[in-house]
Amino acid sequence: MVKPFVPELVYVEPRAMEYPLAKELTSKFENMGIEIRETTSHNQVRNIPGDNHFQRYRNAKSTLVLGIRKTLKFDTSKPSAEYAIPFVTGCMGHCHYCYLQTTMGDKPYIRTYVNLDDIFASADHYINDRAPEPTRFEASCTSDIVGVDHLTHTLKRAIEYFGQSEHGKLRFVTKFAHVDHLLDANHNGRTRFRFSINNNHIIKYFEPGTSKLQDRIQAAVKVAEAGYPLGFIIAPIYLHEGWREGYQEMMEKLEQALPAFAKKDLTFEMIQHRFTKPAKRVIQKNYPMTKLELDESKRKWKWGRYGIGKYIYTDQEQEDIKDTLGHFIETYFPEARLEYFT
Ligand code: SF4
Repeated sequence: MVKPFVPELVYVEPRAMEYPLAKELTSKFENMGIEIRETTSHNQVRNIPGDNHFQRYRNAKSTLVLGIRKTLKFDTSKPSAEYAIPFVTGCMGHCHYCYLQTTMGDKPYIRTYVNLDDIFASADHYINDRAPEPTRFEASCTSDIVGVDHLTHTLKRAIEYFGQSEHGKLRFVTKFAHVDHLLDANHNGRTRFRFSINNNHIIKYFEPGTSKLQDRIQAAVKVAEAGYPLGFIIAPIYLHEGWREGYQEMMEKLEQALPAFAKKDLTFEMIQHRFTKPAKRVIQKNYPMTKLELDESKRKWKWGRYGIGKYIYTDQEQEDIKDTLGHFIETYFPEARLEYFT
C-alpha cells in the first residue's frame, strides 16, 4: 500500500501563522522532525533543494506550503459542479498525464490554505446567489486533496461545513485510499465522495505514487459503509493493447467488492485521455521515460479552453469507448447513473 504523504520540507507564510490551522500544523510538523522554513508568499517559494530540474521537481512534490488564499473568486467547474472550491493546490502524486503539470508550471509544490473561514464565507455568497437552486462545489480541481488531508483535516471540516448547508453540496475525487479520518465526518449525505479509478495497466505505468486499484476499491467500500453518496470517475480512459479486458476486469472487481446498497445511488463520470502541445512538452521533461502515447497524428484536434487546442481520441475511438465502458456500467451497475463522457 502507498504510504500516506509526509512532506520532506514545509514552508509557511508569516501571516498564515495568524490562523489556528497554521499553528496546529507547524507544531505537528515540528514534532515530526520536519524542517520548516519561511516564505514571503506561497506563490514564490524559492530554494527548493536540487541540483537540476529533475531533482527540484521531485523535491517540490514533497514540499508543503502553508499559505493564505487571497483570491476568493471561484472558477466554474463544469461539467462536474458549479464552482471549484480552492483548499489545496498541487499534488504529491506522479501521474504522467496530470493536467496540473501544465497549469502549475514552475510551482509544483503543494499549497494548503489555512484561512478556511474566508473560503467558506465566499462559498456562502455563491450559494445565496443561486438559492433555492442547489450549488455544487468541486474540491479537487487543482489538487488531490485527500492525499494531504490526513495531515490537515481541511476536507473533513469542509465536509462538515457542507453537511450543515441547506443548498450547498460538496464533491471531490481522489486516487488515494487514506480515507479513515473522513469516515466519521458529519456529512449528512451532502458530499459525494468519488474515486478516480483506472485499470491495473494504466495505474502501474502512468500513476506512480498513488494508491493501487485494490486499495482504492477497499477505501470506496469503507466510504459507502460510512453513508456517503459514492461515485467513480474513470479517468483518463486510455487506449492500450488489452484496454477492453483491463477495464472489464476493473469493473468486475468493483462489482464484487461493493455492497448492494452502495450500487443504488452510484454515479460514473468518464473522461478520455487528452493532451495539449504545452502539456506534451512538460510531460516529456518531467517524465522522460514515459510510455504515454502522445502522438498528435493519431488524435483528433479540438479547440480547448483559453484557445489552446487539445488532442483527443478520434470520433470512432470515442464511440468505441462510450459503447464499451457504457456497456460495462449497464451490465455491472444497472442502477448507476452515467453523468457525462468528455
Ligand atoms: Fe494529478 Fe490526480 Fe495524479 Fe495527483 S493524483 S498527480 S492530481 S492525476
